[in-house]
Amino acid sequence: MLYASASIFANRPIVSYAPIMVEALIEHQGALFKRKHDGEYHQAVFCPTCEGLTSSLADMLCFYCSRCNWRSEFTGKQLPAVMKDLPDADADG
Ligand SMILES: [Zn+2]
Repeated sequence: MLYASASIFANRPIVSYAPIMVEALIEHQGALFKRKHDGEYHQAVFCPTCEGLTSSLADMLCFYCSRCNWRSEFTGKQLPAVMKDLPDADADG
């Protein structure tokens, strides 16, 4: 029967985001970050409201979404430190 195949998924924890091999949007510090297939993150901040790409003017200001006026809690200058705390794909399993 087909029951044997179910055991493959039995030990798999239920996660709220997509598996590692798929590009995924990870919520962190109130913003969204995009993880690439290789587990690295794009050096970009995405809006948690409309998932649009945001920008930080000269790294001095908070990231801003021109579509819905969302603003991040951190500035462009703080981005490297913020991204350091992102969940590490390598740590999984
Ligand atoms: Zn937005």
